[in-house]
Amino acid sequence: MNNKFDASWDTILSDIKGKIQDAEFFKWIKDLKILSFESNVITLQADNKFIKNWVEDKYLNKLKSALKEFYHLECDIKITLKGAKQLKKEVQENIVSEVVKNNDNYDSYSIPLNKDYTFDTFVAGKSNSFAHSACLSAAKGFDKLNNPIYIYGDVGLGKTHLMHAVGNYIRLNFPKKKILCITGEHFRDEFVSSLTKKRMTEFKEKYCSLDVLLFDDVQIISRNHATTEEFFFLFSKLHSNEKQIILTSNSSPDESLNMDKRLKSRFSGGLIAHIGTPSVEEKVAILKSFSSQYGIFMTDEIIYYLAENIKSDSTRDLLGAAKTAFVQSKFHNVELTIDFLQNHIASMLVKRDKTLTPQNIIDIISEYFNIKLVDLKSPSRSQNIVIPRNLAIYLIYKNTPSSLKGIGDIFNRDHSTIKNSISKIEKDISNNNAYIVNTLNELSNKMKMFSV
Ligand code: ADP
Ligand code: MG
Repeated sequence: MNNKFDASWDTILSDIKGKIQDAEFFKWIKDLKILSFESNVITLQADNKFIKNWVEDKYLNKLKSALKEFYHLECDIKITLKGAKQLKKEVQENIVSEVVKNNDNYDSYSIPLNKDYTFDTFVAGKSNSFAHSACLSAAKGFDKLNNPIYIYGDVGLGKTHLMHAVGNYIRLNFPKKKILCITGEHFRDEFVSSLTKKRMTEFKEKYCSLDVLLFDDVQIISRNHATTEEFFFLFSKLHSNEKQIILTSNSSPDESLNMDKRLKSRFSGGLIAHIGTPSVEEKVAILKSFSSQYGIFMTDEIIYYLAENIKSDSTRDLLGAAKTAFVQSKFHNVELTIDFLQNHIASMLVKRDKTLTPQNIIDIISEYFNIKLVDLKSPSRSQNIVIPRNLAIYLIYKNTPSSLKGIGDIFNRDHSTIKNSISKIEKDISNNNAYIVNTLNELSNKMKMFSV
């Protein structure tokens, strides 16, 4: 780092600060470090990829025009990442995006592959393991048994991510293969435009020459009979030529495409994979991967809290909440704490009773069972302690905004032990264990005193 650059950058910032009334702009820009200023290129450095993307999307043009307006400086601004590891990754990404760019040029209807959607950044878990392994093996090489692959599930669960991961993998490892990535909407528009411009021969030729067809949100075409017919024709052609086809949809093949018998048998020869909603553990893994991918630090407590308390089941919303929380904490220049989440992203979280604290519940349990807190926290496995302890854990989890990790800290246990205690009580409830159900009712009545 060169002090000279630092000093001149500081001067520039303090100069333009007086003239631009946008506090948020400065919050983000001021944390960037200057690395070099040469040949009309200013190179700045961001602490992590998230800040880099954020500044590039929102503030780069503003910064450029401020420099032009105030100093008549017409320069390009590059933002790099801190640390050699990330730089290496960035260089790698540039190579990938170059390959992607070259390939994408050949068709204006192709969707550019999102270079962040790779197998490396996709967290495989129970909810998506079938779809994930099918896509991975299709990316590595064509296999009749994996064709077509039809992935379906609710919005925001990673269908597009997986599909682009296949595309990115093939582009990098088999650059000669002709891939087309398209959405139902684009396909419909292209079909209609080819019809009106009398370009159907080119349209058909283009599709028939593909090695890999990645077709996102296929349900959209079912609304239009002629488009669906055309799709069936191209699909059959590619399928009999043993070309890889991957389709995604928000519903099952029967619901999305009113399939005729012939097509149905082709689908059943391939693979139909449903993506379900992620479990808390999967959400934790996704948040951890997200935080290391973007270099955003979130404590385990925050990660577990988000995973356990997010209202929506969609991974997109989960990541959206994490991003919003990070941006807000950065803007307010404060640490990300559970309190902060409750104050700033409350609408994205499940509502828990705020008036009841874990200590209130522990007090109720201690009094009811005549047990001391030290015993509840002790390693003792004796039943007259285990049951009150499990009940306390269960009630704290259900009635206060505490995370599994937070409860673990109270009881000197790790989060999986806490989870087992909760599951144990849930099982007793579903088995209609009279003692547990009655005790819970009595405890709930006592707890009402604390709620508003
Ligand atoms: P869909 O196409 O099913 O609506 P997307 O593929 O657009 O969902 O995913 C929404 C967001 O969630 C994207 O940012 C994606 O990267 C992320 N995401 C979803 N599932 C996973 C996963 N298993 N691992 C990592 N990121 C995921
Ligand atoms: Mg999608």
